[in-house]
Amino acid sequence: MSTDALLRPAAAVVTGFEPPAVSGPAVLLGGRRLQLLPEHAVWDAAAGTVLVSDLHLGKEAAFRAAAIPVPDQTAGTLSRLSQLLATTGAGRLGILGDLLHARRGRCEQMIRQVVEWREQHSELSIELVRGNHDAAAGDPPGEWRMSCLSEPFVSDGLQLCHDPERCIGAGLAGHLHPVVRLRGPGRDSLRLPCFLLRREVLILPAFSRFVDGRVLQPGPADRVFAVSEQSVISMK
Ligand code: MN
Repeated sequence: MSTDALLRPAAAVVTGFEPPAVSGPAVLLGGRRLQLLPEHAVWDAAAGTVLVSDLHLGKEAAFRAAAIPVPDQTAGTLSRLSQLLATTGAGRLGILGDLLHARRGRCEQMIRQVVEWREQHSELSIELVRGNHDAAAGDPPGEWRMSCLSEPFVSDGLQLCHDPERCIGAGLAGHLHPVVRLRGPGRDSLRLPCFLLRREVLILPAFSRFVDGRVLQPGPADRVFAVSEQSVISMK
């Protein structure tokens, strides 16, 4: 073997430079293949778009303004978003509403944290479909450079909404923060956030970890995908 061949990196080393593979089951919706990620997100690889819902930024600030001490989640939320963008290599981020929690949660510190995060992702295009909380909290600051849209917003053949009831046809939504209750032996039970595919509408779990989930009773035709740590599991 020549010295050249010995110095050449092995194929495994070369592929190590590629972003790590995204994991999670895929569903077909409106002719598009959507992958459900354990990061509480949907990945449309063909469009290079990652979709999330219900970030509820500033919720902790709103609690603190009411003298209820809670730890700040903003840095954690933004870091999970950055990780998600790195893993997928997305060029576009779609937010399905409730980006901001409340008008009194628009504190200076949180706004600055998002500005700094935005500077780290300056090439990213961001679209926000306004949710009920955004309507009350107001549109995000201009420095965040997000296009604000009203639901339903049609994109790549899919309707993007906050409220699933506003989707007329195949689409994605949030709003419900769906949770599934798993029942084990005896009185064992466990609540896990989930994706819910109801008719032609895929409802995402909340991206924020600081929200209440709503336990949904799946109908006979519904499909449920529970999110547990690093995996998304098809329940029915
Ligand atoms: Mn919400």
